Amino acid sequence: MQNVSFYQKLSLFQRQEGQISAQASKTIDMNATTAINIAHVGVHYRTQEALRDVNCIVKSGRLTGIFGPNGAGKSTLMKAILGLVPVSSGSVLYQNKFLTQQLEKVAYVPQRSQIDWTYPATVWDVVMMGRVKKTGWLRSFSAVSRQVAKNAIERVGMSEYGDRPIGELSGGQQQRVFLARALAQQADIFCFDEPFVGIDQKTQTVIFEVFHELAAANKIVLVVNHDLGESITHFDDLILLNRELIATGSRQQVLTEENLHLAYNGKVMYFSDAA
Ligand code: ADP
Ligand code: MG
Repeated sequence: MQNVSFYQKLSLFQRQEGQISAQASKTIDMNATTAINIAHVGVHYRTQEALRDVNCIVKSGRLTGIFGPNGAGKSTLMKAILGLVPVSSGSVLYQNKFLTQQLEKVAYVPQRSQIDWTYPATVWDVVMMGRVKKTGWLRSFSAVSRQVAKNAIERVGMSEYGDRPIGELSGGQQQRVFLARALAQQADIFCFDEPFVGIDQKTQTVIFEVFHELAAANKIVLVVNHDLGESITHFDDLILLNRELIATGSRQQVLTEENLHLAYNGKVMYFSDAA
């Protein structure tokens, strides 16, 4: 009986995966896979070692999650990738060059707690900020930029809120506005730190839809998350951290009981999609 149920579940799961790849194949950009190469990255805050010798690859066309317990160094790894904290060892390369020398290719949405929600900006202002690099300060935004921003706001379902100050929105709406700003940047690499904290179900659905669209368009999509619930099945690849790299690779390779035990020190109940 156990076998029957296992295979039934497995085939259900494969059907779901099949649907995603069928959708992806309609829109897929045929560009070759690109990757961020993270080699021997270590980070210290003063004397405290936050990350030691992290080695992994983040591939385009895949939704990649950075997982691990509180204080594991997830945000630190994302910041190290983007040059927002100095590395004490190692390098981060994209297409054989330092990623920090090509940050115009990156869109980054930090953790909610790092954003000043009292800043007097409307939804439209925030999303247009995503166009500044393409336009330059002091130059007026082109019709193209306005259209790109408008489309991005529409994609996240915020068209009716263009003139609303961001401080007056719900947590989920705020997260969607920042997602729209990232989309407006038309980047190759998208980095999100804990985008699912403090949001509603509708927002979670929109965010995952957009992530899958970006991956299908052969973008690099890197997301810090800590929720080991059912939503983990959205991720293709995982980087499991606890101050050092515990495991990396496809979700199926990484999500073993042993790896999770190592990362969470045995304090974890997780959603298993294999059994
Ligand atoms: P996570 O995102 O996985 O919760 P962080 O990357 O934020 O973890 O933090 C990793 C460790 O580094 C924690 O022990 C945290 O207290 C420490 N840390 C993070 N940022 C700083 C900082 N700016 N100064 C000093 N220590 C920090
Ligand atoms: Mg964090």
